[in-house]
Amino acid sequence: MPDLMRQEGFSYAFNPAKCESCEGRCCTGESGYIYVSQDEISALATLLKLETDDFIEQYLYKKGYKYSLKEVVHEGSYDCVFYNRSSNGCGVYEARPTQCRTFPFWDYFKQRVDELKDECPGIIND
Ligand code: SF4
Ligand code: SF4
Repeated sequence: MPDLMRQEGFSYAFNPAKCESCEGRCCTGESGYIYVSQDEISALATLLKLETDDFIEQYLYKKGYKYSLKEVVHEGSYDCVFYNRSSNGCGVYEARPTQCRTFPFWDYFKQRVDELKDECPGIIND
């Protein structure tokens, strides 16, 4: 059995080996918000060697008082602007936002494990 990830308070485990064959289902599909904090904006701008204002202009949009990553529509799928379909990976992996780092252990999914299993093939009932 591969190394599974678990987190206290969650009823499921996660097999990260599934990411290789999954084709980024958590970075594509239905439209959604990927929120970024000011610190994350700075880290992403630094990684991409952009001035913060230019980074915001190119890659973010305002949702209420927060910023979210833009999406790119690909054959009906709303892909995160940083998802790379050719390499099946995140183009800003080292500086990806907390929301991405903490997936699939989000409080939202604690009571919605079936919804999560539909999205992520790495979820295993413990
Ligand atoms: S949906 Fe799950 S298995 Fe697929 S890339 Fe995301 S975390 Fe990995
Ligand atoms: S920043 Fe990276 S990990 Fe997060 S949704 Fe975009 S492509 Fe996926």
